[in-house]
Amino acid sequence: MKFATRAIRMGQPPDPATGAIVAPIYQTVNFVFEDIGRPRAYEYSRSANPTRSALEECLAGLEEAKFGLAFGSGMAAADAVLSLLRPGDHVVSSRHIYGGTFRIFEKVYVPRGATFTYVEGTRPEAFAEAMRPATRLLWIETPANPLLQLVDVAAVAAVARRSGARLVADNTFASPFFQRPLTQGADVVLHSTTKYIGGHSDVIGGAVVVNDPELHSQIKFYQNAVGAVPGPQDCWLTLRGLKTLAVRMRQHEANARAVAAFLNRHPKVQETIYPGLPGHPQHELAKAQMDGFGGIVTFRLPGGREQAARFVKGLNLFLFAESLGGVESLVCHPATMSHASMSAAEREALGITEGTLRLSVGIEDADDLIQDLDTALRGC
Ligand SMILES: *Cc1c(COP(=O)(O)O)cnc(C)c1O
Repeated sequence: MKFATRAIRMGQPPDPATGAIVAPIYQTVNFVFEDIGRPRAYEYSRSANPTRSALEECLAGLEEAKFGLAFGSGMAAADAVLSLLRPGDHVVSSRHIYGGTFRIFEKVYVPRGATFTYVEGTRPEAFAEAMRPATRLLWIETPANPLLQLVDVAAVAAVARRSGARLVADNTFASPFFQRPLTQGADVVLHSTTKYIGGHSDVIGGAVVVNDPELHSQIKFYQNAVGAVPGPQDCWLTLRGLKTLAVRMRQHEANARAVAAFLNRHPKVQETIYPGLPGHPQHELAKAQMDGFGGIVTFRLPGGREQAARFVKGLNLFLFAESLGGVESLVCHPATMSHASMSAAEREALGITEGTLRLSVGIEDADDLIQDLDTALRGC
């Protein structure tokens, strides 16, 4: 089955009990046992729930993987992967990661005895140079939030394999429609399903997708032991969103290309960052590693925070909000929003300046979006 078919059908045969076409919301805590020592397929919804299983199977199918696990948020999914660490273990991470990922590393796992080395993710050799005997995980996000740097998944996977470490790839920005890191050698794919997978800005969720049965059972054990599971209604909403992932991603990308081209030639814009622009430093890698360039466009205004504020005020269609990947277009100011948990010095070092703005280009009409940007640029 091809991607668009899998998105609609995987894990979702007609309900065996009633023939319902849509996977039912099994809003139940528990399931009756057949007899002493004889549970049915399900026992208790923290451990497993049929609506969640449908979502997990579909997510695994879209990443061309064996196992999917759904979580209550993207950060709960990240935590479940990090639970593999023991005191003394070491992680090599790309510097270009979501602010909340940096926060869980530094504020939750460092106090528990793990150590983290941050490297320039665009240089695969940098991962090799930072490896230690205690390195258990390599962590990448590609394209990265918010400056859209790419990491060469296959090259970093080779570094991980050489030393028996596992490569974790946060695939939130690309979505499985544009990139499937497990097929390029990653061991774990992580998603904030809150973003493109859910796609409608109405449900928080996360996912971990793996091929290795051992890894799956370790993470599933932690999921059940700690319990950061999504409820059946949230799983159902995410599944409903997933059905249109292919059509949405095509439109997100078409609109993002048009927006990037517009900003790239606008005299008031200092720099436009989009992997689909030939001037993006990793445009060739994007073409080789991804099936498309995604729906996020970042750009810089030369006038810093004041100009960014005037620009944001002048927008009408683009909504000024956190998050990304929904059908509606959003604008975010990473320095004060998604990356506020970093210090100013840390942000500066990463190039997240006060004049940097990130657009999550929605699936409205591209002409309307460009007109909105044009008006705001005129006034800033
Ligand atoms: C949003 C996001 C997360 C965190 O996901 P939540 O669902 O908000 O917990 C992790 N990684 C990336 C790249 C994200 O954009």
